[in-house]
Formats: sequence, structure tokens, C-alpha cells
Amino acid sequence: MKGLICGHGKTCPVASAVTVELGGATLVVKGVPAGICDNCGEAYVDEEIARQRPSTADEAQKAGVQVDVREFVATIS
Ligand SMILES: [Zn+2]
Repeated sequence: MKGLICGHGKTCPVASAVTVELGGATLVVKGVPAGICDNCGEAYVDEEIARQRPSTADEAQKAGVQVDVREFVATIS
């Protein structure tokens, strides 16, 4: 898979931390499967995984969480 932004380089799979900011709450999800471009260093998170982020952040916001750090748990079957 080529870099989507620079159009060069290759992405290699890594587990990265994704930060989501929503309504004043900051949610850090560790161990998210992602690809890092070896040319520009841009990180790509799988679309299916990216779709899960808002609901997770929403849940934290409802609970009144300011900063939440959690491990990514795959919910894709
Ligand atoms: Zn790139």
C-alpha cells in the first residue's frame, strides 16, 4: 500500500496510539493497528477502526472523562 498523502513510500503495519479530541475530552487509544508511511511518516488507520473511534470518545465524554487512556479492543468480527 502506497502513502495516501505523499503518494510515495510504503506503509508498514505498526501498533500506534490514536488521540481523539471531542467536546473537551481527550481520548488516547493505544495499540491501534495502523500503517506508517516510510517516506513521510504519515500514519494510516484502517477505516473500520477509525469508525469505532467516535463512539468510544462519545462514551468517555458522557462519563465526564477529561483524559482517558485505554487499550484498543478489536470489535470487528
Ligand atoms: Zn507518505
